[in-house]
Amino acid sequence: MNIQVLGAHNIESRECKCVSLVIDNILAIDAGALTSGLSLSAQQNLKAVLLTHQHYDHIRDIPILGMNFRLHDNTINVYSIQPVYEALSTHLLNDILYPNFIENPAEKPTIQFKILRAGETESINGYTVLSVPMNHTVPTVGYQITSSDSKSVFYTADTGPGLTECWRRVSPDLLIIEVTTISKYNDFARESGHLTPNLLQQELESFREIKGYLPRIVLVHMNPLDEKGIETEIATVAGALNTTIQLGKEGMQIEV
Ligand SMILES: [Zn+2]
Ligand SMILES: [Zn+2]
Repeated sequence: MNIQVLGAHNIESRECKCVSLVIDNILAIDAGALTSGLSLSAQQNLKAVLLTHQHYDHIRDIPILGMNFRLHDNTINVYSIQPVYEALSTHLLNDILYPNFIENPAEKPTIQFKILRAGETESINGYTVLSVPMNHTVPTVGYQITSSDSKSVFYTADTGPGLTECWRRVSPDLLIIEVTTISKYNDFARESGHLTPNLLQQELESFREIKGYLPRIVLVHMNPLDEKGIETEIATVAGALNTTIQLGKEGMQIEV
């Protein structure tokens, strides 16, 4: 399984992009950098996009991706939970801000939106996809993707602490987890449903206690302004847990 990190941050510039992951060039998760991070033809190669939640940094490229598929007279499958479908169709693809690709053209809508239920497993383009409810300010699911050769990655999406139940549901080889800011903002992180290095350490300790191992770990959704601080604090966390934790980076390729 090949995982491409197109975006690993929570804001965008020439140097950094919002979160998007692509598995084996065909299955994308979150749409923070799907258009700015992929050529037009690589976008056309995508078979499906999984969205974790409705926040703008995670859905922003869906309209322009839709236009690319429309102009190629092609269709793309987009999967997410009901609240994301409602937010997209009400506020973005509503024929006011942008064309309603979910319903048009009527005979073959450009975006084939498929609703997932949190906690359930779906077979998508040969992968087993488990949607796991996470702790964020709006309904959010993380995705565990398992390939036909039994390799698996779990991407948490945006989440705050309290992941004990989540850990019971997943057993990934690779964990892609968010760390948004530094530990002095623990209170802000708890309130806004995010993690810091300090909060991550507690969640990883609980993971190891429940599962008896730690997977390979890559961080995303970092605030670029805090990245140096995150890096320093994460080195301490990794040392305390006797493991390695990598900071995600635009253009990073991970083989699982
Ligand atoms: Zn969010
Ligand atoms: Zn976010």
